[in-house]
Amino acid sequence: MPDRSAIARPGERPARPGAGRPGAGGPGRPGAGGFAGRPGGGGGFGGRPGGGPGGRGGTQGAFGKGGGRNKQRKSKRAKRQEFEQMDAPTIGGVTVPRGDGQTIVRIRQGASLTDFAERINANPASLVTVLFHLGEMATATQSLDEETFKLLGAELGYVIQIVSPEDEERELFESFHIDLEFGVDVEEDEDLVARPPVVTVMGHVDHGKTKLLDAIRNANVVAGEHGGITQHIGAYQIHKEHEGVDRPITFIDTPGHEAFTAMRARGAKVTDIAILVVAADDGVMPQTIEALNHAQAADVPIVVAVNKIDVEGANPSKVRQQLTEYNLVAEEYGGETMFVDVSAKQRLGIEELLEAVLLTADAALDLRANPDRDARGVAIEANLDRGRGATATVLVQSGTLHVGDAIVTGSAHGRVRAMLDEQGKPVDVAGPSRPVQVLGLSSVPRAGDTFVVAPDDRTARQIAERREAADRQASLAKARKRISLENLDAALAAGKIDTLNLILKGDVSGSVEALEDALLQIDVGDEVDLRIIDRGVGAITMNNINLAMASNAIIIGFNVRAEGQNADYAEREGVEIRYYTVIYQAIEEVEAALKGMLKPEFEEVQLGSAEIREIFRSSKFGNIAGSIVRSGEIKRGARARITRNGVVVGDNVEIAGLRRFKDDVTEVREGYECGINLGSFNDLQVEDVITTYEMREKPRG
Ligand code: GDP
Repeated sequence: MPDRSAIARPGERPARPGAGRPGAGGPGRPGAGGFAGRPGGGGGFGGRPGGGPGGRGGTQGAFGKGGGRNKQRKSKRAKRQEFEQMDAPTIGGVTVPRGDGQTIVRIRQGASLTDFAERINANPASLVTVLFHLGEMATATQSLDEETFKLLGAELGYVIQIVSPEDEERELFESFHIDLEFGVDVEEDEDLVARPPVVTVMGHVDHGKTKLLDAIRNANVVAGEHGGITQHIGAYQIHKEHEGVDRPITFIDTPGHEAFTAMRARGAKVTDIAILVVAADDGVMPQTIEALNHAQAADVPIVVAVNKIDVEGANPSKVRQQLTEYNLVAEEYGGETMFVDVSAKQRLGIEELLEAVLLTADAALDLRANPDRDARGVAIEANLDRGRGATATVLVQSGTLHVGDAIVTGSAHGRVRAMLDEQGKPVDVAGPSRPVQVLGLSSVPRAGDTFVVAPDDRTARQIAERREAADRQASLAKARKRISLENLDAALAAGKIDTLNLILKGDVSGSVEALEDALLQIDVGDEVDLRIIDRGVGAITMNNINLAMASNAIIIGFNVRAEGQNADYAEREGVEIRYYTVIYQAIEEVEAALKGMLKPEFEEVQLGSAEIREIFRSSKFGNIAGSIVRSGEIKRGARARITRNGVVVGDNVEIAGLRRFKDDVTEVREGYECGINLGSFNDLQVEDVITTYEMREKPRG
C-alpha cells in the first residue's frame, strides 16, 4: 500500500528507516554497488522503499489522497513547500526541492553534490539519483565540473553560478569596499608611471642560477651609492644605468621555477621577465625545458643567459641552436629572444645581461603602475623570527606601502611596524616593484598570498578572519569520508554495502601477491564479499584513486604511498588509503573491520611534504637536503618519512635541523625553500620526498 511517509523528503526520515539493502526484494538494484544510498536519509537507491512490488508504486501515491492520517493543520509555508515538491521531478523515485527556474545557487568551484544539496536543502543521495537518471554517474562527495552542475541545475530549476577562488576573493574585498583591480588595463593613463621589471632566474640544476644571482647582487652598478646586499629577504633590487638613466631592476632571490609556479598556482603573477640560465658546457637539459615551458605558459618573456662560458669546452652557439627547437630563436639568428653569454663565476657579461633585461622589458612589456593609491602586491617570502615575530617580504605591485599601514596577507594581518630593504636598512615607503621585508604581522603568510592595504586595522583583521574561516571550511569539506575500514561495520549493518572492494598497491610484486592471497583467505562469512578489484606495483596513482572512487573501494598501500597531489586528491575525495608495512597487520585490520571489531585509536595526519632539490654534504651536520616545501609546513622535531618514487626508504626519522639560508628556523611553509637535516639518516637522493606527520587520536567512525 502506498504510504506517503515512505517517500523521501528532505529533512524527514522515511517511516521505515533502513528499508532494505540495495535492491532487497525489489527491482532496480543498482548494478555497481557504488550507489548505495543512505538508509534513513531517504532517496538513494538503498533508501528507496523496499519490499513493494515496484519502487514506483511508492512514489506515485505519495501525494495522493493520503488517507486521513495527515490532516493536521499546516502552515502556509509547509503547504507551499509541499506544493513545490508535488511539482518536483520524481526522477528515479526521489523528490528534490525545486527552483523556479530563476533561483540562483552559487557553488564553489570544485564542489560536490553534497555541497549543492546543502544549498537547496536536499538530500545528497537524491541528487546522485537524479544525476544518474540524467546519464551522469557521480558520488555525493566527488567534485563535479560546471557543466554537470548546470545540467542538474537546469533539470531542477536552478541557475547555477560557479564561483572561482578569484571571484570569492574579489567579492570579499568588494564587501569591504576595497577595489582589487589594478594595472595598465584598468587604470587611467595619467595615473600610471614606469615601474622596474621583476625578474626570476630559472634553469637546470647546477647551471649557475644561484651563482648568477650572487654575481648580479654583487655587481656594484652605481658605484659607491649602494652598499652590499647582505640580507636574503627573498628579493632584491639593483640599479643599472641605461642610456643615461638610472633604472632599477628587481630580482626574485629564490631561483628556479618551482617557487614561480607555486605562486602562479595561487594566482599571483609576480614575474615580468624570466632569465633562463643554460650552462654552455652542458646545454639544454630537462629542467631547462621545464622552466621555459613554465615561463611560456605564464606568457613571460625570456632572456637567455648562456653561462659558464669560461669553462673549457663551453659551446654557446650549441645552446642557441638547441633552443630554437623550443621557439626561442636568438636575435642574431633572426629571432626575438636575447641571448647573452656570461660567466657567473668570473662575473663576465653581467652588465650586458642586465641591459638585455631592460631592452626586452621595454620592447615587450608595458610596465607601469599607479604609485598614488593604497599598496597591494604579493608576499614572496616569510619567516617566523624568534626576536621579531612574523616577518614577510612583500613585493609591491601597485600603490605605495607606508610604515603604519594596516595590511592583510593570506590570513595574516597587522599594522606595518617597520620595513627593511635588502641591506637591512629601514625604509618608510615602498613603491611599485619594490620588495621590502615587513614587520608587525599576526602570523606568517604563504608564498604567493596577495597583500592588500586596508583602510584600518579592524578591516584588515576582519578580512583575515573571513579568509581563515573559508580555509577552515574548505578543509572540513575535505574531511568528509567515503567508505573506510572504521565505518565498514556500520555500513554493512545498515545495508549500505555488501561488498568490500580493495585495491592493493605494493613495492614489489611478491608482496602484492602474498597480500592478495592472505586477504582472500579471510573468512568473511556469508554476509559480505571481499573483492580485490585491482592490484599493482608502485606508488598510488590518480588512476587508483579514481577507480576507488568509482567503485567505493579502499586502497591498501603496502610499503608504498600516495604522494603530493595524489594524496591531496584522495583526501579531498574522501578515498581511504590504509598504509601497512607488515602483511599480518593488514590482514588483521581488514578482518577486524569485517567483523566490526576495528577500534583504532590513532590516525596519521600529514603535516607537510618537501621535495629534495639538492644535497649538500656538511662535515659538521652530515647531509643537508636542500628542499622545497610542497604542501603544509615542515617543522623542526617532527617525524618524517622519506619516499623515493613513492616507495618508502626511511620512516620515523626526525627533522633534526631546519634552516632558511643561514638561519635556524622552527618551521617552513609551503612554497619556500629550506635546508633539512635528518640527523643520522643519510640515505638521501635528489627528488626524494620528505613527508612529516603526527599521530592524532581519531574520533570513532
Ligand atoms: P644552480 O643549481 O643553478 O643554482 O647552480 P649554482 O649557482 O649552485 O652553480 C652550480 C655550480 O656551477 C657551482 O659549483 C658554481 O660554482 C658553478 N658555476 C656557476 N656558474 C659558473 C660559471 O660561470 N663558470 C664556472 N666555471 N662555474 C660556474
